[in-house]
Amino acid sequence: MIENKVVVITGASSGIGEASARLLARQGAKVVLGARREDRLKAIAESIEAEGGSAAFVAMDVTSPADNDAIIRLAEDRFGCVDVIFLNAGLMPTSPVSALKTDEWNAAVDINIKGVLNGVAASMPLFLAQKSGQVIAVSSVAGLKAYPGSAIYGGTKWFVRDFMEVLRMESAMEGSNIRTSTIYPAAINTELLGGISDPTAAAAMKNLYSQYAISPERVASVVSFAIDAPEDTNINEFTIGPTSQPW
Ligand code: NDP
Repeated sequence: MIENKVVVITGASSGIGEASARLLARQGAKVVLGARREDRLKAIAESIEAEGGSAAFVAMDVTSPADNDAIIRLAEDRFGCVDVIFLNAGLMPTSPVSALKTDEWNAAVDINIKGVLNGVAASMPLFLAQKSGQVIAVSSVAGLKAYPGSAIYGGTKWFVRDFMEVLRMESAMEGSNIRTSTIYPAAINTELLGGISDPTAAAAMKNLYSQYAISPERVASVVSFAIDAPEDTNINEFTIGPTSQPW
């Protein structure tokens, strides 16, 4: 069931996070939006509320444990609990290893890996106390297969896959009643390509996306499906892409 669930979403200022927030709010969830661009969050929250939904927002950086604690606190203060944390914030600085874009490597590790860990660390005490909760994380098809240009990005997404699978197993073994879902999108039409600074990689990805990308609303429907699953059910390991995608 989605209605009245409190859903914290990181990376809610654009793309998959924004589309998920809008869909879930239309389905009756109370959404709590986090990302760095506060103006975008404010506009999205206002438009959700104008349509009759419930939304709160806070500017946050997923690399900061304190910011992750703060968004959980906001959700509790405004809506009384957290039922779902959707760990979606990420960036994709595609480039060949030989380009040695080490600052981008570190940013990808900090946001895509440590951001997920910080979100879990912030929400887990509450989920354990409630004896319920759901962690949804976004990996990528680059977390399932190796792609040239994606050594670091893909590595961060392989991490998400491994981490979420172990979290699923441990939650079952410990009887903590924490549900886990991991989503593996292919090419999705969002702002993600804007983070690619290598011109050759950027052109190749743009070409690929022009052929195969689908809308973030498609991914939002998977997020919604995972939340709506029966409460004793994990919806795990979803890949999502167009029927035409050959790779
Ligand atoms: P967008 O660039 O549209 O969205 C990324 C979101 O992450 C933005 O809201 C951005 O907000 C937020 N974000 C980035 N860095 C931080 C940070 N340090 N702290 C808080 N928020 C941050 O791209 P997508 O919607 O496509 O990306 C969402 C997820 O989907 C990512 O994890 C991405 O890797 C994954 N994915 C996307 C695919 C695609 O083809 N688009 C394919 C496979 C996976 P802000 O800048 O305001 O902080």
